[in-house]
Amino acid sequence: MEAELKNKEFDEETKILNKLSHRDIKATSTRVLVLKTMIRAGCALSIGDLEEALETVDKSTIFRTLTLFHEHRLVHCIDDGSGSLKYAVCQDDCDCSLEKEHVHFYCERCHKTYCFEGLSIPRIILPKNFKTNEANFVFKGVCKNCSER
Ligand SMILES: [Zn+2]
Ligand SMILES: [Zn+2]
Ligand SMILES: [Zn+2]
Repeated sequence: MEAELKNKEFDEETKILNKLSHRDIKATSTRVLVLKTMIRAGCALSIGDLEEALETVDKSTIFRTLTLFHEHRLVHCIDDGSGSLKYAVCQDDCDCSLEKEHVHFYCERCHKTYCFEGLSIPRIILPKNFKTNEANFVFKGVCKNCSER
C-alpha cells in the first residue's frame, strides 16, 4: 500500500518535470510546487487561491512564477468575470492560439472555473478590419459538484 502511494507520487513528480521541460522551463522547487498545486486543483486558480494553498510561498513569487508559466505557454489565463484572473494548466499540445481556445465554465455557487478542453469556441466572423488577439468564452451557472449536492 505504502509502496503504491510512493509510486503514485513518483509518477506525479515525473509528469510535472516533463511538463516543465516540455515548455523549456527550468525546474525549481517553487515551480514544481506551484504546478503540482494547479494540476491537483482540477480547476483554474487565481493568485489568491494559490497564495492560500501555498502558505510557504509569498504572493510576489507566485506572481512571478505564473508570469513565467504564462510566457512559456504552460498555463493560460481566464477572465471569468469574478474580478480576479484565473490560471489553468495548458495541455501539452496547446499553443494558446485562438484555434486552441476552449470553453470555460464559472460556477456561481462554488466560484470555481473549469476548463472544457474538448469544447473549442465557435468561430465568429467579426466586422471588417477588426482583428482578434484573444477570446474569452465563459459560461456561468452551477457546476456538476454543486448540482449533485
Ligand atoms: Zn495554452
Ligand atoms: Zn460549483
Ligand atoms: Zn482553460
